[in-house]
Amino acid sequence: MSGRINSGLDRLIRAATALPPVAGAACTGRAELFDDHRHGETDHDQQTRHSAALDLCDRCEAITACRAAVDQLPNPTGVWAGEVRGPRRRTPHV
Ligand code: SF4
Repeated sequence: MSGRINSGLDRLIRAATALPPVAGAACTGRAELFDDHRHGETDHDQQTRHSAALDLCDRCEAITACRAAVDQLPNPTGVWAGEVRGPRRRTPHV
């Protein structure tokens, strides 16, 4: 496994259900964009990175399956299914 364990949805599915990877996940190989916070990162850098991740979600053909799956997780963080998620936020990308 490498990168964002190939994709956000792949990561989610492997953690939650052990199903095989879902085709079409736009985050494949772009894990670094989707993490909640990276060590030493400024708020501005985080927002820029998450904006790039959200743009990928907007074009992702797996977004419906991704959203359904991540909604099953108790505390998702970072960018998932076109939203920035965390303990105190759930911000849809507009
Ligand atoms: S919707 Fe976003 S987080 Fe979900 S699989 Fe697609 S690119 Fe990854």
